[in-house]
Amino acid sequence: MSSVIRISSSDVIGTMDKNNRPAAYCNDGDTVIFETKDCSDGAVSPDGTRDQTPGKFVGNPATGPLYVNGAEPGDILEVKIISLKTGKLGFMGPGKRVNVFGLVEADYPVRIFDVSDGQVRIGGHVFPADPMIGVIGVAPAGEGIDTFTPAAHGGNMDCTRIREGAAVYFPVSAPGALLAMGDLHAAMGDGEVSWYGLEIPGEVTVQVRVIKGKTLRWPVVVDGKTLAVIASAKTTDECCVLATEQLYDILTSRGWDRTEALYLMSMKCDLRVCQIVDPNMTVRAEISTEYLQPKN
Ligand code: CA
Ligand code: CA
Repeated sequence: MSSVIRISSSDVIGTMDKNNRPAAYCNDGDTVIFETKDCSDGAVSPDGTRDQTPGKFVGNPATGPLYVNGAEPGDILEVKIISLKTGKLGFMGPGKRVNVFGLVEADYPVRIFDVSDGQVRIGGHVFPADPMIGVIGVAPAGEGIDTFTPAAHGGNMDCTRIREGAAVYFPVSAPGALLAMGDLHAAMGDGEVSWYGLEIPGEVTVQVRVIKGKTLRWPVVVDGKTLAVIASAKTTDECCVLATEQLYDILTSRGWDRTEALYLMSMKCDLRVCQIVDPNMTVRAEISTEYLQPKN
């Protein structure tokens, strides 16, 4: 029988690594709650000041890792996001060395946002929060990878489709998979152009399942009726190639003729930027799930 496991936000890591000590163990099919800190590890106070004490905080902390019994290298780990709740206060900034358009220095102070009623307010505009998970991933195959860097294991992908109701699929590279997550955003636009989403702590409830006999090169997210392959690399050009290659493989493995798969993708696949501010760029190739198989 399934049980609910809770991982406290005191169990955070700054590197996704196969040698990390598990914060918790679970079985295939279990439901697990991850309490997450904001990307500053709590260094930003509600008054907008930021504690800069060296060594006191974990950069971009991820809660975990969770050891999923039975997950082995070569498997896929399915992570269904059952619920995603954020705290009341989020922040953005400060603005030193941030953004993608060349402006530098600390002209952008920390801004605190109260989203306790589920609304974001800025410049007289009010819009609903749309919470998503910035960092989510498993232990990579080789050396550990810091939680600022997205790669084949997931990590800091900052993909807006990773939100409540979505299911994310990861290639397992270490025994137990070692799932970890954090860096929630109450709102973020594709690209994350200032380097900050609306950074906020929260709580994520997931159900995990091990899929045997299939593998992936890059994480996949299914969000509503959209399937997206999420690839990360040094340049967005490389990401586009890697994401479309795996989407093509998914389509042909589900019965599409090679030529028709290519032409379908040219008509119905969208390449979208996830983020362009992290040590690797991230792009997703997405298509409606209605096109995953041919009808004839
Ligand atoms: Ca991030
Ligand atoms: Ca963030």
